Amino acid sequence: MVHEWALAESILLYIENQGVRRARRVVVKIGVLQSIDREILEFALREISRERGLEINEFTILEEEPLLKCNRCGFQWSIDPSKISEDIREAIHFLPESIYAYFRCPNCGSIDFEIVKGRGLGEIKVENYE
Ligand SMILES: [Zn+2]
Repeated sequence: MVHEWALAESILLYIENQGVRRARRVVVKIGVLQSIDREILEFALREISRERGLEINEFTILEEEPLLKCNRCGFQWSIDPSKISEDIREAIHFLPESIYAYFRCPNCGSIDFEIVKGRGLGEIKVENYE
């Protein structure tokens, strides 16, 4: 819960630092391995942006696919977010290392891989009015 509000703060800070006070839409990508309640995040974004006097018409929160890279063979692969169950997301959220219990390199079977993308905050895109 606190998580989403802190995240919303940093997203809006980032936007403000770019000199944006109003926008048609802000698109935020969140790593799927970050267990974020998207509804709470959206609510927090609305509340905080109103408090700060920002005029943002719409927030869209998308899930960013995780990208993993094998340290043994160099193979890179991503995981379809819809194929990651809530249980696994929870586990990884609380103990990121547990990802190694659920996934392995599809090319060589190694569990020595790194998470290139899919944790934390991804891309933030501001769509202005024409
Ligand atoms: Zn491999």
